[in-house]
Amino acid sequence: MKDLKDLVRPNVWNLKPYSSARDEFHGDASVFLDANENPWNVPYNRYPDPLQWKLKDRLAVLKGVDRSSIFLGNGSDEAIDLVIRAFCEPGLDSVVTISPSYGMYEVAADVNNVECRKVSLDENFDLDADRVLESADEWTKVIFLCSPNNPSGNSLDRGSIYKILKNYEGIVVIDEAYIDFSAYPSFLKELSGFPNLIVLQTLSKAWGAAFWDIRLGMAFASPEIIGVLNKIKYPYNVNQLTQEKALEFLNDEATMKHQVNEILTERNRLEKILSEPPFSYQVYPSDANFLLVNVGKADAMYNGLVKKGIVVRNRSNVQKCRGCLRITIGTPKENDSLLNAMKNMKL
Ligand code: PMP
Repeated sequence: MKDLKDLVRPNVWNLKPYSSARDEFHGDASVFLDANENPWNVPYNRYPDPLQWKLKDRLAVLKGVDRSSIFLGNGSDEAIDLVIRAFCEPGLDSVVTISPSYGMYEVAADVNNVECRKVSLDENFDLDADRVLESADEWTKVIFLCSPNNPSGNSLDRGSIYKILKNYEGIVVIDEAYIDFSAYPSFLKELSGFPNLIVLQTLSKAWGAAFWDIRLGMAFASPEIIGVLNKIKYPYNVNQLTQEKALEFLNDEATMKHQVNEILTERNRLEKILSEPPFSYQVYPSDANFLLVNVGKADAMYNGLVKKGIVVRNRSNVQKCRGCLRITIGTPKENDSLLNAMKNMKL
């Protein structure tokens, strides 16, 4: 890996971050007159912990990483945006990502006027490490990978991911939003071996917390990289309601695991039914909580389902996904409604 100093934008490397009242005082006190808060309306009057240490301490245990290796944000979308802002000089630097994949890497790059180079996955949505490496040049600061990948659902080939980690001198982000549904282990355990690695995870999927007051995304990386992200984040980027509710969820891992198992059972059931007669659709192998299904007349099927009050994601216009719907696995009852509606659909 290049020196971190040579990868981070010079203005970011040199900037002195804003220091909030809650950054400057740590410890016990009974009278807080330091942050220009309203003294009433307790406890909503107080600013939250800017570095969310209580939550990070729990996550450190749960994920087996040091708390200094954790960044928390308003969804992992915040981390995606911050990574681009930390490392990429607008109008000069670039990022490389795969296609098809999660759309926010490109959107965040576009917002920041950073070129996004997209490397196509093959017809099985597999990754060609050499093509990814060849697309990166000296101005490329970040490679975004997503595994299990959205919208294809498959885990990317681990050998190819290692090849990129070993041979690329810049930052490699592995977005593991769907890792809790995967049969493969997380790349979190590789953090100590690869100082250029950033792993993204989220509470929005397996943990069932995408709701507006519990937006929590996680980035795991070396303490030095986490330090850079902390420097440029908004001071109070994760509100107290989220911090408390997230802690509640994280203290009940059993429920999450139970729900994930149910989802996996349902995923297998749907995969089997949709790939056999009378459907006989091409269903792509999934390591996530959704299935990419080639239904042929995707627009007509999508519109027909909407008329019956069932919304899936039409991915037919996405590269290599012609004819495909992305179907999130619901409850058994919801999945049955979907199957019935699809079976009776006149296209
Ligand atoms: N990464 C991937 C691959 C996703 O599919 C999503 C959400 N669709 C996200 C990140 C964003 O998740 P969050 O809710 O944590 O912002």
